[in-house]
Amino acid sequence: MSKALDTLREKTESLLFATYGRYPIAIAEGHGSRLRDFDGREYIDLLSGIAVTNLGHCRPEIAETAAAQAKKLVHVSNLFYQEEQIELAERLLKTTHFGKAFFCNSGAEANEAAIKLARRRQQRLKNKYAYEIITFEGCFHGRTLATVAATGQARFQDGFAPMPEGFFQIPWGDPQALEAAVSDKTAGVLLEIIQGEGGVRPASAAFAREVARICRDKDILFIVDEVQTGMGRTGSYWAFQHFGLKPDIMTAAKALANGLPMGAVLSTDETAHAFVPGSHASTFGGGAFVSAVAAKVLEIMERDRLPQRAAELGAWAMERFRAVQTACPGSIHEVRGMGLMIGIELTDPGREVWEKLLQSGFILNLTQERVLRLLPPLIIEKEDLENFAVCLETILKAGAGLKRL
Ligand SMILES: *Cc1c(COP(=O)(O)O)cnc(C)c1O
Repeated sequence: MSKALDTLREKTESLLFATYGRYPIAIAEGHGSRLRDFDGREYIDLLSGIAVTNLGHCRPEIAETAAAQAKKLVHVSNLFYQEEQIELAERLLKTTHFGKAFFCNSGAEANEAAIKLARRRQQRLKNKYAYEIITFEGCFHGRTLATVAATGQARFQDGFAPMPEGFFQIPWGDPQALEAAVSDKTAGVLLEIIQGEGGVRPASAAFAREVARICRDKDILFIVDEVQTGMGRTGSYWAFQHFGLKPDIMTAAKALANGLPMGAVLSTDETAHAFVPGSHASTFGGGAFVSAVAAKVLEIMERDRLPQRAAELGAWAMERFRAVQTACPGSIHEVRGMGLMIGIELTDPGREVWEKLLQSGFILNLTQERVLRLLPPLIIEKEDLENFAVCLETILKAGAGLKRL
């Protein structure tokens, strides 16, 4: 084990809250789809910092935009008009049917704002005291108190009682349960089109359309959390677009500024009217620096047709991983996903397989104990995915995937 890693681990333990279980790697630098540790060892990044660095690490044209903006204007607060924010809003809204944007700094903060917007729409525009937000078992919406309540999982709520009121979860994939759960207290439904943290579980088109229909029929807000699925990841700019849906509200974050902290809430003009001056705010939200970078990210995505690339490469990769499944009978339960958001669910707990992949130089994540989650940068080369497939097959054939831990 390397000295740099030992030192960093020791200092991390002594100086930082122990909130994270960390991988046994210290990253010194990153370029494109490659990460390098302090011993000069190179890794293929199939995680993108959890769906954040979709355009790869330290991309020169983004670094140039950031450097130029850092010398021009970084922050003045939302008391002022800022052209960087407008350029970003124009580019972002153009990828959707939405009419208005609000900028903040993270996924949880975007979901908080979406929840507030939904409540306020019912309470101020519709004069209805409705506040409940319905979510789905296995979902993940963030770590603030409201978003942890929305997430609804005991392991994220442990020791944080009491939870804010007005959130409850219903089974995933069951529109009848939703129909039954909606009451005159319901403000909206919050849905991930593909549950990410929940193990890369895509909603079926039929289920997603039923959720949209029920929301429309009952006049409650249809909110999609695109924090992980957005920005081209699934093969379209936003995952809801695969199903021809038109949600009232959408949240985004993670890949928005390719690694700088940024979140956004987009909504229809009609819904956006629920917020008036003073309703909601964020000191850093949409600052000139991050906005300039995010606008550049969108410019590159459009120019290089990255959503399309994710769709094509993702379809190829999923076929390739299904070939591994066939070659290793009994090891892989299912390969699923959309675009470059791919889950390989193993038959058994996958810690050992994951560790071997890491030792072989592939960085990815293990969720729900047995799901290998791949969120590679959208610029990754096919060859890297091919090499991963070969490596996975070798590891599974050697039996690591068959051993119970
Ligand atoms: C990561 C994530 C969040 C939380 O985002 P933060 O920026 O960590 O607050 C919310 N929803 C989904 C679907 C996510 O994947």
